[in-house]
Amino acid sequence: MNNYAIADSFSMLAKLMDIHGDNSFKAKSYSSAAFNIEKFSEEISSLANDKIFKLKGIGETIGKKILELRETGRISELDDYLEKTPPGILEMLRIKGLGPKKIATIWKDLEVESIGELLYACNENRLLNYKGFGAKTQQNIQESIEFYLNNAGNYLYAQVESYATAWQEKLAEWFPEKIFYNTGDFRRQLLIIDKLEWVTEATANEIVKAFDSTIYTIEINDNQITARGPENLLLQFYCTNTALVYTNLFETSCSEDFFTAWKTKFNWDENKKYQSEEEIFTENNIQWIPPFLRDKPYIIDKALSKQVPQVITEKDIKGIIHSHSNFSDGSNTIEQMVNGAISKGYEYLVISDHSKSAFYAGGLFPDKIAVQHELIDTLNEKYKPFKIFKSIESDILNDGSLDYDDNVLASFDLVITSVHSNLKMNQEKAMMRLMNAIANPYTTILGHMTGRLLLSRKGYPVDYETIIDACAKHNVVIELNAHPRRLDMDWKWIDVAIEKGVLISIDPDAHTIEEYDNIKYGVLAGQKGGLTKENNVSSFTLQEFEKFLLIQQQKRN
Ligand SMILES: [Zn+2]
Ligand SMILES: [Zn+2]
Repeated sequence: MNNYAIADSFSMLAKLMDIHGDNSFKAKSYSSAAFNIEKFSEEISSLANDKIFKLKGIGETIGKKILELRETGRISELDDYLEKTPPGILEMLRIKGLGPKKIATIWKDLEVESIGELLYACNENRLLNYKGFGAKTQQNIQESIEFYLNNAGNYLYAQVESYATAWQEKLAEWFPEKIFYNTGDFRRQLLIIDKLEWVTEATANEIVKAFDSTIYTIEINDNQITARGPENLLLQFYCTNTALVYTNLFETSCSEDFFTAWKTKFNWDENKKYQSEEEIFTENNIQWIPPFLRDKPYIIDKALSKQVPQVITEKDIKGIIHSHSNFSDGSNTIEQMVNGAISKGYEYLVISDHSKSAFYAGGLFPDKIAVQHELIDTLNEKYKPFKIFKSIESDILNDGSLDYDDNVLASFDLVITSVHSNLKMNQEKAMMRLMNAIANPYTTILGHMTGRLLLSRKGYPVDYETIIDACAKHNVVIELNAHPRRLDMDWKWIDVAIEKGVLISIDPDAHTIEEYDNIKYGVLAGQKGGLTKENNVSSFTLQEFEKFLLIQQQKRN
């Protein structure tokens, strides 16, 4: 048992004492002991008894408990607390934003003993009657619970990103001498992640010892270890000897289809040693395929003929396309959005607020559009050479027509068309609406193609191939909406679109300046689809973008 595991036990003990409202002085001493233990450079479990008692912050009581833990693997006082705490209360410790004090109030004052009940209490605003629970806190708790319950261990890439970094650092701290390579779905930049995975030369035994078994549920399957802790996120370790690290890394960084295809093309010996992952490629005389492209098998043929695409990166993005302002449902003024874009180094900004049918989002009526366009003209003078383009995110109405008549549509530099209403429809209806919108000469970009919200809404069914063909025919760009919950169109169809000569546009759909940063997730998804900067409109320079608009506008006559 290493120091971290010991520290975790004391921290758990302190939390439970606080939940039960017992001796807060003692609880405090346990939690500061936990803090100190984590920082010790020597492994406490290997120290002589008398040395343990002399450690900073470790007195008689805590020292004895460390000895007990070392001998029996348990702390009986912690076991007692675990036994007299209902499982639902223990589970609450996993909810982000719920500390021991709040849990104590929920349990003792609200008499709520499970997470499901607590969610219901939030819906009824019952938490507001208690000290320490404001409307904001209640809302945060509600959101954390919904997050915890809904996902059953599935997360958006963007949600696990910070965990992945934190765990990588923690592992480096726990095992300074050992290699831990991130692998699996996260390394392959999949949109939904159900576990974080590592290939390591640490032994299964060493890893098991690092985790506190009272907090983490550990499962051992030969050389694979899984651990699930308070974050409800599964961690998986593939333990292998040092010589086989890269063999394992490659095996765990491919989709099944890709790996099967690989094995039929080349010899694969799972016991062969490599000095690097690159060596696996050079050995077979094949171009390097980055992990995010190891999905569809045909990429192997591309690599054999040295045609793996030079995929887009974040710094290739030159302009912000698709952003909202406080004219509709955005939080910032256009000028703030402009300053935000300039400070991040972008060359232009496409303001595309909601159209009039989106009444719930403050969609724009023609009089407001005129005001906005005047403002944009003024700001364009002020901020030269930076340029703001006049656009709109026009609703695709039920019959597939757009939300304004032609002379209003003609006042925009470009038009993004999206479905926002009556999302529950069959494929036939969805296709009728989309095909009509694509055929409209004012449509420049087809926004979030399926309306999906990852992990919460499936999106209406579409026939991708037909849509792509129609976009090719009518010279319509397909958006890759970069919001980490959308990432719509799906990356699996990007290569098909490129093949047919359709342009893609990575758009942040920003409602705040901060949401410009969504671009990152669009780029990651675009990379999976083999998107290059040449095929992506938002990586056009200002000049290129203006030229592109001129060609687009020819459609209108
Ligand atoms: Zn939209
Ligand atoms: Zn939008």
